[in-house]
Amino acid sequence: MSRKLLLAGGGHAHMMVLASLQRFIAKGHQVTVVQPSPYHYYSGMGPGMLGNTYSPEEIRFATRHVVEKQGGTFLLDRVQRVDPAANTAYLESGGAVSYDVLSFNVGSYVPQNMVATDRDRIFTVKPIERLSAARQLILDLAAHKPLTVGVIGGGPSAVEIAGNVWGLARGSNLQPVAIRIFARSAVMGEFPEGVRSRALRSLRARKIEIMEECEVREILPGRIVLGSGSSHELDVIFVAVGVRPSPIFADSGLSIGPDGGLVVNRYLQSIDYPNIFGGGDCIHFRDRPLDKVGVYAVRENPVLLHNLSAAMDGGSLKEFEPGGDYLLIFNLGDGTGIFRKKFLQFNGRAAFLIKDYIDRRFMKKFQAIE
Ligand SMILES: Cc1cc2nc3c(=O)[nH]c(=O)nc-3n(C[C@H](O)[C@H](O)[C@H](O)COP(=O)(O)OP(=O)(O)OC[C@H]3O[C@@H](n4cnc5c(N)ncnc54)[C@H](O)[C@@H]3O)c2cc1C
Repeated sequence: MSRKLLLAGGGHAHMMVLASLQRFIAKGHQVTVVQPSPYHYYSGMGPGMLGNTYSPEEIRFATRHVVEKQGGTFLLDRVQRVDPAANTAYLESGGAVSYDVLSFNVGSYVPQNMVATDRDRIFTVKPIERLSAARQLILDLAAHKPLTVGVIGGGPSAVEIAGNVWGLARGSNLQPVAIRIFARSAVMGEFPEGVRSRALRSLRARKIEIMEECEVREILPGRIVLGSGSSHELDVIFVAVGVRPSPIFADSGLSIGPDGGLVVNRYLQSIDYPNIFGGGDCIHFRDRPLDKVGVYAVRENPVLLHNLSAAMDGGSLKEFEPGGDYLLIFNLGDGTGIFRKKFLQFNGRAAFLIKDYIDRRFMKKFQAIE
C-alpha cells in the first residue's frame, strides 16, 4: 500500500535515509523532504569555510538534487508546526503536507533575543551557510579599512570562529583585522583544563583578545552593550552563544525536553505519536540527554533508516545506542587543531589533519550520491 513519508529537514541524521529514498519509492511510497535551503551544510567544516580552507561547494550536500533524482518531492520551505492528530505538517509558506510517517531532523538555532532586528553585519553561527556571506563581508570591508570583529560566546564554536577569522584575515592585501572574544564565563570552561589552556594559548599567541566574565546585554548593528553598561564598537559580529532546538515541538503540543527538543524514546520515536521520529540536535533523548554534537546525529543514521522503513512497511524497531565518549577536534584556523578523546589530548598540525581527513571522508561518502 502506498504511504507518505515526510522528512522535516535533511540534516546530519537523515543522510542515510536521503541516500536510500529510492528504497521507499520503489515500494510505491511517496517521499517529501522540506528544507529551507536546497543544500545541507556540514557544520564541522563551517568554520573552515569561513577561514577559506574550504569552499562552500566542498562542505555541502545537494539535498534537493538527491531527493528529486530518486523521485522524491523537495519543498523549499520550513516546517513550522504539525497537527499530530491529523497527521499534517504546516509550512512557513502557508502550505500543508499530510503524512503517514514523519521524521524531524531540523537542527537547532542560536537564540536571538538580544540581537537587533537589523542583522546586516551580525552573524549567528547557525545556519552554517551564513558563514559564507560573513567571509565575503570581511574580505570586502578589510580590503579598504582596518576592522574589528567581535565573537560573542565562549564555547568551541566561538573559538573556531575567532581562529578562522584570523586565518581569513591573513589573506593578502587586507588591512589589519582585530578580533575580540566576549565570553560570559571562562572560554572553553566546560572542557578539561588541558583543552582550555591549549585553546587560550593558541588564540593569545595570535593577538586575539579574550574578555571573560563579560555578559553581553545587547547586540546592535556596529556595537555591543555589556551588562556593565559599557559598549564596544565592532564592524562585524558573530553570535556563538549556544544553540536550542526549534520551537516547532512546543508549538505542536508534542512532549518536549528541558531545552524544547522533541522527546524521543530509545527508538528515536516520539513518546506521544508512534508515527513521528527524530534525530540530531532537535531531539531530547529521554534515556540520556545527549550533547548537541554532530557525532550523535551521524550515529543515529542507521537506526532512523531502519525504523522509518519499519514504520512505513511494518517490522520491529531498532534501539539507538548512543555509545561512549566521542572524539572532538577543534579547528583553530591556523592549520592546527586540538584533539580530545577520553584522556588523550594534543594540539598541532596533526590534530587538524585528522579532522580534515575525517570531515572530507564524510562529505565524499554522501556527495557521491549526487
Ligand atoms: C560552528 C559550529 C561547528 C561545529 N563543529 C562540530 C564538529 O566539528 N563536530 C561535531 O560533532 N559537531 C559540531 N557542531 C555541532 C553540530 O553542528 C550539530 O550537532 C549538528 O549540526 C547537528 O546536526 P543536525 O542535523 O541535527 O542539525 P543541522 O546540521 O542544523 O541540520 C538541520 C537541517 O534542517 C534544516 N531545517 C532547519 N529548520 C527547518 C525547518 N523548520 N523545516 C525544515 N528544515 C529545517 C536546516 O536547513 C538544516 O539543513 C558544530 C556546530 C557549530 C555551530
